[in-house]
Amino acid sequence: MLDKPMTDKQLIAIAALARKKAYAPYSGFPVGAALLACSGKVYTGCNVENASSGLTVCAERVAVFKAVSEGEQEFDTLAVVTATGASPCGACRQVLIEFGGSLRVLVADTEGHLMEFSVDQLIPNAFPGWSLVGSGALDVAK
Ligand SMILES: [Zn+2]
Repeated sequence: MLDKPMTDKQLIAIAALARKKAYAPYSGFPVGAALLACSGKVYTGCNVENASSGLTVCAERVAVFKAVSEGEQEFDTLAVVTATGASPCGACRQVLIEFGGSLRVLVADTEGHLMEFSVDQLIPNAFPGWSLVGSGALDVAK
């Protein structure tokens, strides 16, 4: 952990800065995310859109994938900033639950309004990795 813990306000400010880097020419809806790992490091993300809309990746998933690719798998808090305070989409919720339902998710708008959830609250009755154990799905890799 950090010597000096990151405050929610600081994490939201980092997400707001990440939002400025969004590539959102089609939706015009920039999103920024900042993911605080249990190590104390923060990984940012912004939405990256594509002319082939199915290839668009949300800010939340960019942050998670950056963190995991750097060796992180335990997370404390994710801050997401949009103009309207929109919460993560279903795909992002599924990606987040992979790393634990207790992860805090702070959803903020650009006016400073804030809501807090756990991932368990955002995706109740999720499809968890453990449900594959014993199903034979994991035997394919053997
Ligand atoms: Zn999403």
